[in-house]
This record gives sequence, structure tokens and C-alpha cells, in this order.
Amino acid sequence: FNTARFGQHILKNPTTAQKIVDAANLKPTDKVLEVGPGTGNLTVKILEQAKHVTAIEMDPRMAAEVLKRVQGTPMQRSLSVTIGDFIKVDPLPYFDVCISNTPYQISSPLIFKLLSHRPLFRIAILMFQREFALRLVARPGTALWSRLSANVQLYAQTSLILSVPRSDFRPPPQVESSIIRLVPLDPPPPVKFEEFDGLNRILFSRPNKTVRGNFQAKGVMKMLDANRKTWGALQVQEGKMDVDLEKPIAQVVDEVLEELGQTENRAAKMDVDDLLK
Ligand code: SAM
Repeated sequence: FNTARFGQHILKNPTTAQKIVDAANLKPTDKVLEVGPGTGNLTVKILEQAKHVTAIEMDPRMAAEVLKRVQGTPMQRSLSVTIGDFIKVDPLPYFDVCISNTPYQISSPLIFKLLSHRPLFRIAILMFQREFALRLVARPGTALWSRLSANVQLYAQTSLILSVPRSDFRPPPQVESSIIRLVPLDPPPPVKFEEFDGLNRILFSRPNKTVRGNFQAKGVMKMLDANRKTWGALQVQEGKMDVDLEKPIAQVVDEVLEELGQTENRAAKMDVDDLLK
């Protein structure tokens, strides 16, 4: 197999595979989405507990292998395999639960694709490179709390389930892995992701600097000023003539931060609620 191209490290430890599947608390009525089934070591265990599995696999040889594995068994009817790149599959099928052990190159796009999926699923059990997993579950005030932590925890509760050693895989990968549980918040917060992420880009560029300090950086002020001009022009177009574009942007920002009591806060210690404010 071309392990470099598809990041194919097969999970060979059956105890670990069972722990991953059990962590999902599957119900007999569940429809499961599995990303990157490989040879199907997780797939067959999921099929024992769920109603249906849709597996999305990029490598046609792997897709054939997992299908062959259930051929002629009662599980055959409960498995559909889609050949393709998970990131590009649109729309995704309906699913209650997502289980994934995929290559670590797609960690970020995978998690944000899941978080923007509707209707909301119940739970996802995901394997990632350990450092990435630890950032997903990091809490404010700890070393790994970052823009990624905040962006993900805006939409979901995350928790660490298990650390998985390299020796559980064939061939063993370069890095250690960890499994996390992700439970989407229902309802999701009423905020545009692009705006929340835009804020986090500013505040986490220097997470130990004050909110005011990060906002007052030259590049940030220039960008905000340009954005305000665009916004102002749109307001005028819509007939709202009373917008005040005269006040210097730096002053507007200072007044807003002061009003919200966020001037001296630091992203390193702010939780999602502080950031939402
Ligand atoms: N889940 C299996 C296991 O636990 O043994 C296989 C794990 S292996 C690390 C990752 C699998 O994801 C491979 O079968 C690979 O072909 C597949 N894959 C890689 N990139 C993918 C993508 N973008 N979309 C879907 N599957 C992908």
C-alpha cells in the first residue's frame, strides 16, 4: 500500500479498536459515518452495534477490501462504501455518530467539516495526532489553549478518551495518537464562525498580550478601518444615513472594549464565553 499518499496506518490492536467503538455508546438504531475505514477493523465492530454504516474511503483498493470483508455475511446489507475524499463529499449522508481514524493531514478540515454539518449529529469519536488532540480538549489558562481550542469548543464539548501508542498500528506512524470524544452543542451559539475565528486570529496572535494590545496593533487597526469603510458604504446604500464614520477606529475599539470590560483580558485566560462577549 502507498502509506505516504493516503496515510495508511492500520489499527492492529483489537482492544483499542473495541474501546473506540464502545466510546460512541452506539444504539441499535444508529446510522454511523465512518471516515477512512481502511481494511475495516473498526467498521466490523461498528456494524455489530449499529443499524447502518456509510464509510467514505479515498483508496479504491481499501474500499474493495472492506466490502469483501462483509460479503456474504448479514452485515453486508448494513454497509455502504463511498469512494472519495471525505473533505470533498457534499452533501454528507445523514448520520447520528461519526467515527474516524484518518490521516493527520486532514485533521483540521475534517473537524470543521463535521462542526458545520447539519442536522447536528449526537457524538463523534475521532483519532488524531496527540498534540492536535490535546489542543482540541485544552482549557483556558493552560499551555495548549489556542485559537483551535476556542474555535472547536465554540461548537462542541470535547474530552480525551484514550492515548494510543504507535505500536498499535501497522506500519507504526511517526507520532503518538489520542482519541477524543466530541459532542456538538445543541443549539449551536448564534454567531458566524468567520467572525468568531476572525476575532480569535487577532486575540491569539499574541495570546499573553492584552485584548487592547492586540487590537491596537497597526495591521489590525488598518484592517478594521478598511472593514468599517466597506460596512459604512453598505449601510449608506441601504439608506441608513446615520452611521458615524468620523470617529477614529482606535477610539471606537477602545470604547467598545471598555464597555464590555475586556480591555485588560488576555486570550490565554479567556474562555469561550469571554470571547463571545
Ligand atoms: N480506520 C482504519 C483503521 O483504523 O485501521 C484505517 C486507518 S488509516 C490511518 C486511514 C485511512 O483513511 C486509509 O484507509 C486511507 O486510505 C483513508 N483516507 C486517507 N485520506 C482520506 C480522505 N481524505 N477521505 C477518506 N479517506 C481517506
